Amino acid sequence: MNMAVAVLFAASYVTIALLNPGNRAPIWFAASYGVGMLTPMAQLGLAYSGWTTPFGFLVYFSFALALLLMVPALAVFYRQSPPWRLLAAIASYTFFTVAVLSQLHRNSWAYELLYQSPYMLAMLACVGVILHRSRRRTSDLLLAAMFALLALHFPVKAVVAVRIGTGAAVTNYIDSTYALISQVSSGIMLVATGLVLLIKALQSVILEKQADAETDPLSGVANRRGFDMRAERMLAGAAPQRRPVSLLILDLDRFKAINDTYGHGAGDAAIRAFGAMLMRTLPPSALVARIGGEEFAVLLDRTGEEAAQLHAETLRLATATCAEDGAPAFTVSIGVTEIGPPYEMKAAITRADAALYEAKEGGRNRVVCAPRRHLQAVSAQL
Ligand code: GH3
Ligand code: MG
Ligand code: MG
Repeated sequence: MNMAVAVLFAASYVTIALLNPGNRAPIWFAASYGVGMLTPMAQLGLAYSGWTTPFGFLVYFSFALALLLMVPALAVFYRQSPPWRLLAAIASYTFFTVAVLSQLHRNSWAYELLYQSPYMLAMLACVGVILHRSRRRTSDLLLAAMFALLALHFPVKAVVAVRIGTGAAVTNYIDSTYALISQVSSGIMLVATGLVLLIKALQSVILEKQADAETDPLSGVANRRGFDMRAERMLAGAAPQRRPVSLLILDLDRFKAINDTYGHGAGDAAIRAFGAMLMRTLPPSALVARIGGEEFAVLLDRTGEEAAQLHAETLRLATATCAEDGAPAFTVSIGVTEIGPPYEMKAAITRADAALYEAKEGGRNRVVCAPRRHLQAVSAQL
């Protein structure tokens, strides 16, 4: 049963890893469950093959390694560097316990507590990795609590082992009542924790794919699709309170000349530098997107026309100096419009485009605000 569960989890993580080759965390989780499959197999070997020593070692070490592999898996999942020194210390301690265990009596307090201690330490290291994360969500705390419970259940198993015994000899373990309690309790806890972990891993893959689909790889800002999705949300949030939102459309000036004179690579570098400047200069709440070749859009929540014009002027000035060292300088023209009731994006884009056209006609490297009459005309229809 426990082997089937380990196979199922390992297969799930292999699938996630194949779906998302850039992410190494699922490979580590798959490795952990893959090694975990060896434990129940070795337990069967121990009971029925007669090769007590090799299978005894395999049971002990495979389970310890499976639990230990969870630590780097979680570290990679939470984008931390794995605590290699701690892992090496726990691994060395595991070898040390084996040497000491051979000197102790089975079912004595010292033997049972020592037997379970490496497992407990590995699980506590997992708790440490999860809690080390700076931005913890409820699901992270739940996961940490589950690993803490797993850690705690190992010494509890030691107590049960001393009280009811684990079978007269290692080969009798599989038929003992203790084996049943141990396998079921560990099985349930590992499955519950594994499920929470699997849901979190799947959720992160989905969120990553969604972010990728909505991000422009060259500039790092949102793409058209990301802009449409998030703009719709921003306008839906603004509408009930009738609060102002402003739209800026920015088009790099004479960009074709940059490409023609300095090459396409220089053009790309300019787009990258411009995107980075927008992110640096605008407030974090601003929605920034590349909506065309060298055309960007910015949506500012809780921002009226005057404030939007100031933002646009700041961006225009910052553009002059945003090119990378040694790269050609460039300028930008910006069309600005305020969006009020009835919060129609299409109409706002038409107004901002008209203002942008005016900025280009007026000589470029300037900000033009869509005339207020557009807004008034819309308001008058209400
Ligand atoms: P204007 O001031 O009127 O905007 O002139 P412009 O040359 O910027 O305008 P136009 O629309 O004629 O040319 C835009 C150029 O942007 C054409 C295209 O080659 C270039 N472009 C579009 N996307 C990319 C890109 O991803 N990388 C590079 N390097 N160039 C791009
Ligand atoms: Mg242009
Ligand atoms: Mg253009």
